[in-house]
Amino acid sequence: MACRGRFAPSPTGPLHAGSLVAALASWLDVRAAGGRWLVRIEDVDGPRCVPGADREILAQLAACGLHPDEPPVWQSQRGALYEAALQRLLAAGRCYPCACSRKDIAAELARRGQAVQRHGELVYPGTCRAGLHGREPRAWRFRVAPGTVHWADRRLGPQQQDVEHAVGDFVLRRADGLWAYQLAVVVDDAGQGITHVVRGEDLADNTARQLQLQQALGLPVPRYLHTPLVLAADGQKLSKQNGAAPLQLRDPLAALNAAAAVLGLPPQAGPLADALAAWVQAWRASYNPGGD
Ligand code: GLU
Repeated sequence: MACRGRFAPSPTGPLHAGSLVAALASWLDVRAAGGRWLVRIEDVDGPRCVPGADREILAQLAACGLHPDEPPVWQSQRGALYEAALQRLLAAGRCYPCACSRKDIAAELARRGQAVQRHGELVYPGTCRAGLHGREPRAWRFRVAPGTVHWADRRLGPQQQDVEHAVGDFVLRRADGLWAYQLAVVVDDAGQGITHVVRGEDLADNTARQLQLQQALGLPVPRYLHTPLVLAADGQKLSKQNGAAPLQLRDPLAALNAAAAVLGLPPQAGPLADALAAWVQAWRASYNPGGD
């Protein structure tokens, strides 16, 4: 099967040094395997999106010579696909309405004496699994399968997570009606025929949830590679949230050289097209494009 990869930025701001690493790596992986590279704008969380950031990201990618092989898609226009997947999960008994607020969940966890948080998220104790008992539905949750999910990351090696204990039944559609990242990303990776997911290591922790969703929906499982993160001066992951400076693309080659260094690829003098071609070769030698 031909390799298909994607870069899937959330338009919460322009690209920064950290997100360019994922963009470059996913592009190199596809180019090294002779596949097709797609860009998907993950704007499901409307309130967090910054108007115009999508266009800015696409322009930044173009300035770096990273051109998608198909027209970009916007998740905000794909709600019908997420709704259809939710209905399938409902019919299969893998999805249920939930009436709990954050306060309700915290209170239930405290009552059970359970650990309450993981990465700032409450582990859902499954309160509404057995029905709403007359309460008003707010969100829709995925009924997680018990047991440990095992998967192999192409860079990080063997990974595992017991999703039920680590996360609990997670949200597919939020109380405010917005689609959750987990559902949208799984539906779109399958819908766009993505065979190789390359993205930042901060997202590795979502993979077991996505594998469970793929299994419940009968969707093919892509291979995963999580790229190293760029750290801010304080040692935290560089992100738009901690004020990462947007990439200044007066010198795209300098920005790409910085991203390449994070990926362990040698510096290139340019011009841009030659640098990209050299990195494709180097990527081929270090990773296994199109494979595991
Ligand atoms: N939209 C996500 C982000 O920008 C990336 C999702 C993914 O690559 O799976 O963090």
